[in-house]
Amino acid sequence: NKKLEGKVVIITGGASGIGEATARHFADHGAQAVVIADLQEEKGLEVAFSIGYCCTFIKCDVTDEQQVTSLVDSTVKAHGKLDIMFSNAGVLSMSSSEQSILEFDLEASDKLFAVNVRGMIACVKHAARAMVECGVKGSIVCTSSAVANTDAARPIDYVLSKQAVVGLVRCASRGLGEHGIRVNCVSPGPIGTPLMCNWMHTNAEGIEKAFESMNFLKGGVLKLRNVADAVLFLACEDSQFVTGHNLVVDAGFRP
Ligand code: NAD
Repeated sequence: NKKLEGKVVIITGGASGIGEATARHFADHGAQAVVIADLQEEKGLEVAFSIGYCCTFIKCDVTDEQQVTSLVDSTVKAHGKLDIMFSNAGVLSMSSSEQSILEFDLEASDKLFAVNVRGMIACVKHAARAMVECGVKGSIVCTSSAVANTDAARPIDYVLSKQAVVGLVRCASRGLGEHGIRVNCVSPGPIGTPLMCNWMHTNAEGIEKAFESMNFLKGGVLKLRNVADAVLFLACEDSQFVTGHNLVVDAGFRP
């Protein structure tokens, strides 16, 4: 029941959290090659090594279009094609617009938008370019967030950046449909990854405690594996007629 046999995959932000969990899940599902792309070199190499022979690491800053271009091109050169892009790299801690638009820091938001929006666009664009060049009817999955769909509404710049991701998959899916390329996003609820723990100044357990009562679904908390399962669904043939969609996986998160 391996859903990704023969598939060549890139995962941005794959050195940690949701990206790392998805890299492991994709390898378990028989992916031919999983390329982890991240700013964190040491952690990325460690994860790739622990996953095994199908997995490699490429250092890449997604805000730099040239680096994204060479990430995609060197993947195609090494593995012959690109089937799946999981554009997942994102930041939260550089956000400074916590509560009110009155405090909105335009300089800080530029830095956040550079990763969460510009980086996403670059990854979708160049993955699609490579897929068209290779004649691959590929799947592109981006990471938005539950906060894009709820009343959480803060940090303001982060929420806006994640709403942009929902818009991006809608727009990109239109032009890529004629090539058979699908573009979707996943919107996870809060999970205790380094991104969340640094922002909340707590650990994974603290995150679970802080958000548990805000979920409709009781009797358990959202785990990385649940998000990785949703990404797998969007990446593989099970979702062959799903495009432009935002798959919310948040245990009914209603803050
Ligand atoms: P994480 O911090 O564990 O992982 C994010 C990874 O992205 C890190 O390894 C980091 O080095 C990398 N990264 C940051 N900037 C980069 C850049 N410019 N170029 C390349 N890589 C870069 O956090 P995570 O929670 O796994 O976050 C993954 C995605 O999930 C993000 O887009 C985040 O916004 C989103 N998300 C997280 C949650 C949550 O609660 N953890 C909820 C919804 C959405």
